[in-house]
Amino acid sequence: MGNIGETTLEIDLSALEHNYHYLKSKLSSDTKFLGVVKAFAYGSDMVIIAQKLERLGADYLAVAYTKEGVLLREAGIQIPILVLHPQPVNFDHLILHKLEPSMYSPKILKEFLEMAQKLGLGNFPIHIKFNTGLNRLGFWEQDVDHIVEILNGRNEVKVVSIFSHLAASEDPNEKDFSLTQINTFKKISQELNEKLGYAPFRHMLNTSGILNYPEAQFEMARCGIGLYGYGNESTIDQELKPVATLKTVISQLHQIEPNESVGYNRAFTSDRYRTTATLPLGHADGIGRQYGNQKTHVLVHGKKAPIIGNVCMDMIMVDVTGIACKEGDEVVVFGTEQSAEGFANTAGTISYEILTAISSRVKRVVLNP
Ligand SMILES: *Cc1c(COP(=O)(O)O)cnc(C)c1O
Repeated sequence: MGNIGETTLEIDLSALEHNYHYLKSKLSSDTKFLGVVKAFAYGSDMVIIAQKLERLGADYLAVAYTKEGVLLREAGIQIPILVLHPQPVNFDHLILHKLEPSMYSPKILKEFLEMAQKLGLGNFPIHIKFNTGLNRLGFWEQDVDHIVEILNGRNEVKVVSIFSHLAASEDPNEKDFSLTQINTFKKISQELNEKLGYAPFRHMLNTSGILNYPEAQFEMARCGIGLYGYGNESTIDQELKPVATLKTVISQLHQIEPNESVGYNRAFTSDRYRTTATLPLGHADGIGRQYGNQKTHVLVHGKKAPIIGNVCMDMIMVDVTGIACKEGDEVVVFGTEQSAEGFANTAGTISYEILTAISSRVKRVVLNP
């Protein structure tokens, strides 16, 4: 294997393909599959991932914001794209690029209808988001009449789907709560279908929802983290393959004497002779200060090297005492050899956060395209 030479996020599309098929195997064959590619496809590369998902046969993609969807359309993505959290200020771009907005409040629905009327749209696809317990975005159950009233006689838009989002799909202790959300959603959909006079397709499950509540898959499931190789549960993680692997190289080795300190604020003081390695990766690349001061380790030739002292903007120092290594050698931060979930857990956070934190400064390399 050639030396990567600099900090690199490897994006393995064969892992994505494996995860896609694994997740599809948990759904019935006629359930549509939506791949969530928001936040640069969970910090990897949105266009590359979206193109691969389109080739694999995904039915839908979702992004959080309009500008993310615009990037996908500009890259030639043709399949439908749901925008989960659009803002009225971007409606013109959203419509121009045939992105499909989530309508989550009376205000946004009315404003979208106004724009749709102004532009003379007909049957433009929209999706209605219901809040069933997450209390983040969405209409409430008791808004159904109001929604129907707003939409009555309007043919500028067509409700193609309705959806909701589970608050704790990964937590078995919250099973009752999740089942209540699912039942509420069923009730809402029945009532809406009757009053609307047609039946938009329905979706409620994220990755952990697919794994824990497959009976609530309805007509589509929305999968994010699982596609990238993590399932919020160690037994599931073993079935999935990490898509992103963050690697770096040793820039310099130092021999440290007892009582010498390492890094800013002298946060690490050595009790003995040590070898430290300086790596070209810091909090500006997404490795936050919470990973410093021996909370977390990287792997140097498969051996654990703790991050010592404070994380700098562009660098971290790791303790490689007793590990045979030299300047220029490769270092694994997280991915195939040590999971992003485990790495994140050392600093009290989750795979989602560390994956999406890796900044655009880090070079992306695609494997197995
Ligand atoms: C991000 C998101 C998802 C994907 O969730 P995962 O846990 O990553 O599978 C699904 N639905 C909505 C509404 C989201 O915001």
